[in-house]
Amino acid sequence: MAEGHLLFFAKSANFPPKKEMVKNLEHIGIAVKDLSAANELYSKLLGTTPYKTEEVTSENVLTSFFKTGEAKVELLEATSPDSAIAKFIEKRGEGIHHVAFEVDDILAEMQRLESEGFTLLNKEPKRGADNKLVCFIHPKSANGVLVELCQEIREVD
Ligand code: ZN
Repeated sequence: MAEGHLLFFAKSANFPPKKEMVKNLEHIGIAVKDLSAANELYSKLLGTTPYKTEEVTSENVLTSFFKTGEAKVELLEATSPDSAIAKFIEKRGEGIHHVAFEVDDILAEMQRLESEGFTLLNKEPKRGADNKLVCFIHPKSANGVLVELCQEIREVD
């Protein structure tokens, strides 16, 4: 790497990161036309059946999750033509729709990423599938990749 690059990184406020901000890759979301057919195919591919199927009414999607080591695979089928998944498939066909990273403090991460110039698609964390609070980052600000931040919902009683 050229010295110029190192200088640039050294001067950038958050690079290298001072603490662990984004943790592991939590899951990869794949847009599918037919969830039950895709469940069958991915069961064969991964050698395991989905551990959960869940409808997320706010997003108009039906999802299923497979455990694949540390990370998961989420399959998403649209339940309405208004669903972002329906629009995605119409435009680009089936395929990888988003990558999701786990964070400890989604509000802090949203604030940090917004201040770094990323475009957040939702200003407040929303309830996603699999007991998570989620926020999406516009693909235009992340090299064409729709990025999801997710934080496990910890119920306090
Ligand atoms: Zn997801």
